[in-house]
Amino acid sequence: MANPVRVPHLALNWHPAGDLVITHASGCEMYDNHGRRHLDFTAGIGVVNTGHCHPRVVAAIEGQARALLHSQSYIALHPPILNLAKKLASVSPGAIDTFFFVNSGSEAVEAGMRMARSATGRPNIIAFQGGFHGRTAGAMTLTTSNATYRSGALPFISGVYYAPFPLPFRHRIPADEAAARCLQAIEDMLGTQTRPEHTAAFVIEPIQGEGGIHVAPDAFLQGLREICDRHGILLISDEIQAGCGRSGRMFAIEHAGVAPDVILIGKGIGSGLPLAAMGTSRALMDRVPYGSQGGTYNGNAVACAAALATLEVIEEEGLVQAACKMGAHLLSRLMALASQFPGMSLDVRGRGLMAAVEIRHADHRPATAEVESIHARCRKNGLLLLASGQEANIIRMTPPLVVTRAEIDEAVDTLSAAFDAVLT
Ligand code: PMP
Repeated sequence: MANPVRVPHLALNWHPAGDLVITHASGCEMYDNHGRRHLDFTAGIGVVNTGHCHPRVVAAIEGQARALLHSQSYIALHPPILNLAKKLASVSPGAIDTFFFVNSGSEAVEAGMRMARSATGRPNIIAFQGGFHGRTAGAMTLTTSNATYRSGALPFISGVYYAPFPLPFRHRIPADEAAARCLQAIEDMLGTQTRPEHTAAFVIEPIQGEGGIHVAPDAFLQGLREICDRHGILLISDEIQAGCGRSGRMFAIEHAGVAPDVILIGKGIGSGLPLAAMGTSRALMDRVPYGSQGGTYNGNAVACAAALATLEVIEEEGLVQAACKMGAHLLSRLMALASQFPGMSLDVRGRGLMAAVEIRHADHRPATAEVESIHARCRKNGLLLLASGQEANIIRMTPPLVVTRAEIDEAVDTLSAAFDAVLT
């Protein structure tokens, strides 16, 4: 942020929003301390998939809070953790049926890397350029969505290599060509940088979120799976942002018909309570040294109760299907909007309710200042959006999955007015 707003007693390193204080929220609407309504097209960065304060989730939290707040899992388990693990096993792809619960996405990434190294006995991990995986040492090392996040974090952990991620719009090539080039680059890496017998896992976001809603082509994920199978390398799908129904499937990698070996879940699973998980097959999980990991709050009773209610709401209210249907409406409205600015180069992309508009000038320079101005106008007019991409020229939309058609129309109308003011 160019001019950070200083908030007394709050550190600036985490980029606090100094201009907005929210007191209550419901569904896609948030209300500030001046009583103003804001339409939330961020969902707290893909967290409140069931909408703000979903009554079922709130009731589960209230009930569990009265029964038991905390029982450290080393000392005694509780029903919510057992029921949640069983439920997650029933919705996870492939052979994934065993879970390690943690408090944040970053910790799930750390657990996944560590599990892959233990299970394969190999040291190296391949991440993808432009990916975001978190802020703890290992997760930060995997993260290359923006060099700002990495500043002050050196030295990174060793044994991490970076493969290119297909970016057809940025590189001005068709998606299938981008996929083929990146697969070739991976084959080259395995010959020149980290041999297969030294490579434990690939960690990939099937849809890069912070990087700017880059959807990995299905053929790319299928090719990656084939490389993994050929060499005994594990495929770790970071579904922390794209998972829990957001993409129009429970997990985004499922669009490609690919089953990962390991799945990382966070954000949307807790509907706002801090919970994340690393899931894999029993056989792989059993290769992690017994008792080697833990954590005071891992699998907290209230967070697990919220997560169980979240999965029930997603299922019973058909939110995966809703993400598909509403996502298609959002994308078609954004495409119609983008077509009104032929003097600019605009790319509308996404899957389900993970959508973005990338804005470049006709000569392909990133329209960073314009996007900042569009954001500011939308924010002033009660629409909360996210910026993303290393050049901050991408407008990202990740509304709650309960978003209505009318709310999508309202958001696109607000965005359209900002486009008219800034891009013409
Ligand atoms: N992976 C992905 C794909 C994410 O989007 C994020 C958070 N933006 C993380 C990992 C890290 O999660 P957390 O902030 O909960 O540590």
